[in-house]
Amino acid sequence: MYNDYAELRNELVAGKVSCRDIVEFYLGNIEKGKHLNAFLLVFNDEALKRADEIDAKMKAGKAGRLAGMVIAVKDVLSLKGYTLTCSSKILKNFEALYTATAIQRLLDEDAIIIGKTNCDEFAMGSSNENSAYGNVLNPHDNSRVPGGSSGGSAAAVAADMCMVSLGTDTGGSIRQPAAFCGVAGLKPTYGRISRYGLTAFASSFDSIGPFAKNIHDAALVLEVMAGKDKNDSTSTDHSVDNYSAELDDFDVSKMKVGIISDLDESGLQAEIKLSMNKTIEKLRAKGAEIIPVELPYLKYSIQAYYILTTAEASSNLARYDGARYGVRAKDSAVLEDMYVNSRTEGFGTEVKRRIMLGTYVLSHGYYDAYYKKAQKVRRLIKEDFRYAFTKVDLILAPTTPTTAFRIGEKTSDPLEMYLNDIYTTSSNLSGNPALSVPAGKDESGLPIGLQIIGREFDEAGILRLGNFIMKNS
Ligand code: GLN
Repeated sequence: MYNDYAELRNELVAGKVSCRDIVEFYLGNIEKGKHLNAFLLVFNDEALKRADEIDAKMKAGKAGRLAGMVIAVKDVLSLKGYTLTCSSKILKNFEALYTATAIQRLLDEDAIIIGKTNCDEFAMGSSNENSAYGNVLNPHDNSRVPGGSSGGSAAAVAADMCMVSLGTDTGGSIRQPAAFCGVAGLKPTYGRISRYGLTAFASSFDSIGPFAKNIHDAALVLEVMAGKDKNDSTSTDHSVDNYSAELDDFDVSKMKVGIISDLDESGLQAEIKLSMNKTIEKLRAKGAEIIPVELPYLKYSIQAYYILTTAEASSNLARYDGARYGVRAKDSAVLEDMYVNSRTEGFGTEVKRRIMLGTYVLSHGYYDAYYKKAQKVRRLIKEDFRYAFTKVDLILAPTTPTTAFRIGEKTSDPLEMYLNDIYTTSSNLSGNPALSVPAGKDESGLPIGLQIIGREFDEAGILRLGNFIMKNS
């Protein structure tokens, strides 16, 4: 086992270990952890073959920056020639026609993709209980959820089935499972990583990002994936920082760290609050300035998020009609029946609920009352953050109100499930980058996650503070 990729790289260069050894190690763990149901697809032979190719490149001194880094990707991302199910029935047999830019950039640097991970159907959920291919179990306690929607990706890193994984975050789907599984999970600034090849849920919210056991690896992978892509007009040409440098020697004493004074803490587990307080004390002891900031519109995040994302989802998911993608219902008499039957059979309950909610908030007579109003709230939340960041460099908050809950505990009450995203949705509404890092455990031994939110494009800042917190908790 290695602390991070840099350490492994040294061993690879010295010839003490090969890419084949590494792939075999992870394949062994995937086999051992089969009951977790983290993977929908495992690339056994392909990964070993690629490992041999990269070993040869390594010997020739021509290996890329991520040579031998074993990565799993959430099954909402396209990888040419392989199924792209989005954990849905409707796309059960759909094969990707091209490779997502984020994955292509990893491949170009000689990373090895080991498989595709389970998630909530079309990335809608907070517990991975909405997958058409079954639950994912939390590696820390198999009776609990791993979080969602990128539950398989978080569990895979936590259970050492890969070194790094990719997830997507529309309202918390990287940070919340990272918190539940005790790993680091980064949602970059909106537009930082190209969405080309990511199946859209809510296009103006969706972000791709990494899970890792340490900040160095997350930073390195971000560095490789970030940057403008001509295939995604919302990707930005804002310069890509050297995220993986200066992580350890950074000076906390110069930091102004904000804590949200008007945060809704009514459902916050005491041990998470305690972990926050301990972290604040450690930062203070190192000389950081802790400054309370108010974000008055944050309390409307959940409402605005579920109005706007369901609206976008209802439009994005209109394309799955049985005619163009995936599963088509049999024996429909007329065209319209074919559409209706394919969607009725192909979509799960939660996805249907979101399509209906989204269609409702966009419909004549309700558009102004819901959709337009929520857009205004989105702007106000964005301004709240802008103003707060004139006073502080970074904001520290809990990632989730509780640690991992039990499988089945919240499935009968969608609202209760949605409230899990209370601390994460705001930075998707605003576009700010946010990172969840492990910060201790609760009394049942379940991981606690703390969240660091940064100014737009200040991934470097949140990664540095995240590294400090991980090393000091
Ligand atoms: N849990 C949130 C939802 O269900 C977030 C999903 C996500 O980030 N993809 O919408």
